[in-house]
Amino acid sequence: MRQAVNDTDHHAVDPSLAVLRQYFGFESFRGFQKEIIDHLLSGQDAIALMPTGGGKSLCYQIPALLRPGVAIVVSPLIALMQDQVDALWQNGVRAAYINSTLSASQIGTVLQQARHGALDLLYMAPERLLMDSSLAFLDELPLVLFAIDEAHCVSQWGHDFRPEYLGLSVLHDRFPQVPRIALTATANALTRADIIKHLHLRNARLFVASFDRPNIHYTVVAKKEAKNQLKRFLDAEHPGDAGIVYCLSRNKVEEVAHWLTACGRRALPYHAGLDKAVRQQHQAIFLREEGVIMVATIAFGMGIDKPDVRFVAHLDLPKSLEAYCQETGRAGRDGLPANAFLTYGYEDVIKLRQLLANSQLDTALKRVARQQLDTILGYCETTQCRRQVLLRHFDEAYAQPCGNCDTCRAPVATWDGSVAAQKALSCVYRTGQRFGVEYLVEVLLGKTSERLLALGHETLSTFGIGRELTAQQWRSVYRQLVAADLVAVNAEHGGLYLTQRSRPVLRGEQPVRFRQDPKALVPTNRPRKEGMDSSDPETQPLWELLCTVRREIAQRQGVPAFLIFHDATLRDLVEKKPKTLDALANIHGIGKRKLQTYGEEILGALQKFFHR
Ligand code: ADP
Ligand code: ZN
Repeated sequence: MRQAVNDTDHHAVDPSLAVLRQYFGFESFRGFQKEIIDHLLSGQDAIALMPTGGGKSLCYQIPALLRPGVAIVVSPLIALMQDQVDALWQNGVRAAYINSTLSASQIGTVLQQARHGALDLLYMAPERLLMDSSLAFLDELPLVLFAIDEAHCVSQWGHDFRPEYLGLSVLHDRFPQVPRIALTATANALTRADIIKHLHLRNARLFVASFDRPNIHYTVVAKKEAKNQLKRFLDAEHPGDAGIVYCLSRNKVEEVAHWLTACGRRALPYHAGLDKAVRQQHQAIFLREEGVIMVATIAFGMGIDKPDVRFVAHLDLPKSLEAYCQETGRAGRDGLPANAFLTYGYEDVIKLRQLLANSQLDTALKRVARQQLDTILGYCETTQCRRQVLLRHFDEAYAQPCGNCDTCRAPVATWDGSVAAQKALSCVYRTGQRFGVEYLVEVLLGKTSERLLALGHETLSTFGIGRELTAQQWRSVYRQLVAADLVAVNAEHGGLYLTQRSRPVLRGEQPVRFRQDPKALVPTNRPRKEGMDSSDPETQPLWELLCTVRREIAQRQGVPAFLIFHDATLRDLVEKKPKTLDALANIHGIGKRKLQTYGEEILGALQKFFHR
């Protein structure tokens, strides 16, 4: 093994580390990967909770390569199996999949391969695995392990619930000696309990990785013409990058996709109202082409394995911090800088609270949902480091402010809003606790509309008492009062009314501080600040050349460019400029197979470049 020779210490290289280097071209394990692999190799069950991009797949792929027999990977993401399998073959790993997209004879071929020991990994959709014929087939195979990916699909608490997953408990009963690992990026306690219960994983060891994603920069801005805010953000930070824009409704998805297209970006819509074929086509384009923006509802994204998604933008408030982390986690899987950008406004809060109040959920579920909403509002309005707030929510300590979020980069100014809060609440009271924010702001500013005069509100004591602030500032005051639950919103008509919690503020007994909404967008995470692309004149030509070589190889094979090399690999190439195959072998992400297949071509391109 090539790395064994280079190793400076004289101990024999650990077999799993050797496999990591040989097949995947990575230098060392991350986080709990090694512990999980060892645990599975010792024949025991595991549950792995890791953030998106945390490196879950290696946890079962490496045991699959170390032990004779087949590892079965259960995944609900049929559309992705092809890419996953292609990526493994690129690294010289023998993998295949069985799902409904294959014909009977193709399935027959795969089964043959498995029977003859020609496969290390076999991906299966749960409904396929649970068929009697499949289970009977597995009875005859030497099985290394079962990996149950996206294991949170077993839980009815999330929106990814898949009834078939409940049937997977059969694996425990039928194959008690085969180790199982359940993997998910959803960490909350309810989901975790469901996984243990429904998959019969009572003796499994739990591995909880840090949910920190240090390469993601978080920004939250108060919503003011969201589309223009998005445009400015994209122009400033991501002029040519691929990314995802999330919206709450299908209509808005369509609207924003059209608008971005009109602005000259390649943007595609994705939501459950589109034909399945259209959705698949859009997803394929997003994965295969460079620089595409997917505008989507939350119907999009589970298991999207695209490593170079450079930003995730939310134009509406996600319904929980868990959802937010899962969605933003799709950015920067390759570990390079990425942005999470969220605009949220008062209307979001109202809309979500109304949706909730009018939903069919029972009281307990409503309470959970309501709490989730309050938590994400707290995140939006925080004046502290956003990463600290996020990680605290997942019970993880993060000692110092991170330096890589908007509140760290530009500390938020706060102001004593006690008097403003009193005025705002008093105005709610005087007008009869039935008006929405726009009207209340009119009253505070002393604007005489026809409606106001008809109601005789120009005679109220709160009429015109708020001229020291602008309409925008009053909206911000109300938004923050609602977010902090210091005033409530009528679920039917959106009018504000006072609650027990309003009283101490109204009476001046409880001081209130508001955050000053920043005027301009804080510069965030120029993702290419390391200068590995078109923005750096020094390295730009080489970077572009390597991108072209990568694109040509990918087109030749009809696969997405990132299956050939990740950006992180190109970046390492630009930095190290290897001249020999030995040097090339030490590049991040180049294992034995890729060295053999593409080594000469890459070296040739580099050589030509430097001898021009
Ligand atoms: P997850 O399934 O947890 O979202 P993946 O298994 O897809 O994450 O891995 C995310 C990215 O991190 C992939 O690009 C993968 O190649 C890379 N990766 C995983 N483990 C390592 C490692 N030990 N060293 C370097 N890169 C790694
Ligand atoms: Zn921070």
